[in-house]
Amino acid sequence: MSRIAYVNGRYVPHGEASVHIEDRGYQFADGVYEVVAVRDGALIDGAWHMERLQRSLSELQIAMPMSAAAMNVVFRETVRRNRFQTGIVYVQISRGVARRDHPFPNPAVRPALVVTARRTPLQSDKVIEEGIAVISQADIRWQRCDIKSISLLPNVLVKQAARSQGAFEAWQVDGDGYVTEGGSTNVWIINGDGHLITRPVENAILNGITRRRLIELAKARGIIVEERSFTLEEAKSAREAFLTSTTSFVTGVVKIDDTVLGNGRPGIRTRELRGLYMEFMSQNGDKVPSSHL
Ligand code: PMP
Repeated sequence: MSRIAYVNGRYVPHGEASVHIEDRGYQFADGVYEVVAVRDGALIDGAWHMERLQRSLSELQIAMPMSAAAMNVVFRETVRRNRFQTGIVYVQISRGVARRDHPFPNPAVRPALVVTARRTPLQSDKVIEEGIAVISQADIRWQRCDIKSISLLPNVLVKQAARSQGAFEAWQVDGDGYVTEGGSTNVWIINGDGHLITRPVENAILNGITRRRLIELAKARGIIVEERSFTLEEAKSAREAFLTSTTSFVTGVVKIDDTVLGNGRPGIRTRELRGLYMEFMSQNGDKVPSSHL
C-alpha cells in the first residue's frame, strides 16, 4: 500500500514528498523532531510528546507551525491515511526555508512541518527473550542533549559503531566516566537491592517519554527509583540493566562491552517492568476513533 506524508499543509505520496534545498533543517540541522508510538491505532503518551516538542521548539526560538490541537489532528490523519494499527508517527519541524545564512532569518519565515507515519514490525521474540548487547562509546555531543534536535551526527556514529560490533546500542560515557544515555535510548540499571537507577534529567540527556512513564509505573508498584548518575563500571557490575525508548519500549541489556550481566538473560525485574509498560501501552492510548481507521 502506498504511503502518505504530510508536508507543509499537504498530504502527498511518500515518494513525492520533498522539502526545499534551502530548508534550514537540511542546511544547518536547525530543527527538532518527535517520534510517537502508535499502538492499536492509539498515540501513546501523545500529550507528553507534544509538551516535549513545544519545549524543544521554544528552547530554539522556533514558533509552533500551528496549534497543538491542529497538529494532533495532522498526526491522527497521517496515521489514518497510512492505514496501520501499530507503528510510529515521525514529526519534524525546521526553522523554515531561507537563503543560507547562519543567524535566524529576519523577518522570521514559516517553520516547516513534516509528518510521516508507518507500520513497524513487532520487536522480535529473540530480542525480548534474550536481551541485547551494548558497547560503550565516548559521549562527544553538545551540552543541550535535552533538546530533541535533528542534529544527530554523534548519535549516528555511535549507533554505527554498535552495529559494526554486533551490538544493538551504544552507551555513551561522559568525561567523568558516567553513562549519559544510548544513541537513541535512555539507560537503566538495577542494583542488588532491586532499586532502579537512571540518570537524572538535565541537559546531558533527552527527557525520554518512555523513561518518564516507566518511573511513574514503577513507583506506583512500590519499586524504588533512584535518579542519579552511574558509572560504566557500576553498570557492568549491576544485577540487571535495560534501556527504554518509544520504539524499544523496555528491552533487557545482557552484555556491556565484554561483560555479561547476571546469567546472560534479561532479569526478573526487567521482565516485570517490560510487562508493566506493555500493559500500559495496551490500555492507555489517545484513541483514534476506530471509524477513522
Ligand atoms: N535518548 C535519545 C538520545 C533518543 O534519541 C531517544 C529516542 N528519541 C531517547 C533517549 C528515548 O526517548 P523516548 O522514550 O521519548 O523515545
